[in-house]
Amino acid sequence: MTTAFLTSALLPVPHGFTTREGGVSEGPYASLNLGFSVGDVREKVLENLRLLAAAAKTPLGALCRVSQVHGDRVLEARGGEGEDLRPVEGEADALWTEAPGTWVAVGTADCVPVLLVDPDGRRVAAVHSGWRGTDAGISARAVEALVAKGGRPERLLAAVGPAIQRCCYEVSGELAQRFTARFGPEVVESAGDSVRLDLTRAVRATLLRAGLKPAHVDVLPACTACAPERFFSHRRDAGRTGRHLNYVVNRF
Ligand SMILES: [Zn+2]
Repeated sequence: MTTAFLTSALLPVPHGFTTREGGVSEGPYASLNLGFSVGDVREKVLENLRLLAAAAKTPLGALCRVSQVHGDRVLEARGGEGEDLRPVEGEADALWTEAPGTWVAVGTADCVPVLLVDPDGRRVAAVHSGWRGTDAGISARAVEALVAKGGRPERLLAAVGPAIQRCCYEVSGELAQRFTARFGPEVVESAGDSVRLDLTRAVRATLLRAGLKPAHVDVLPACTACAPERFFSHRRDAGRTGRHLNYVVNRF
């Protein structure tokens, strides 16, 4: 089976949101686990990364990642060459690059991945937005980083990838209130005693407030928790699961 990933028709550069398909990992990490810190065999994760690089037709040495900490820090990245995986660039939850051929990626297993493209400035960014990062406005921070380099918000393009959707994301009343106050009542749905959060809608609202046009934000509808054969889900699998990588290549 080949590595399979989802894409958005909106983005004019190579990119992908990986699924579980096409890797060599086993058990709860089967098969395309791309995260090192989840208990999988390191050599298998490395092989999965090599398979991804081959599918993305991009050298593994040009891939930039960060150590994700559920914050609002954005880093600039400049990848290397060759086939050796680079160490992470540092602690952050978004990274961008203007270096041709460099690819940036974030890992997820329920959290919302966002890929950003500035087609004029030829810059790309990858964002990891869980509820904490969404609350901290990490997607807006990434937009600001591109705007600081001359990008115009109304020209930026964004694709919001597979994440835990409202169908499966029950949260506390306290968190629901916090998000309602910040993003509006439409990000929360009550059904009986349970309250569910629409995290991707909150991320979309963040991008629109940051100046992106509605037609420039593509939200993929896939729910990670609903499809165990297709996606890793931290919540569904009680933490014992793999990680997807969500990548975008600076190749215009
Ligand atoms: Zn679901």
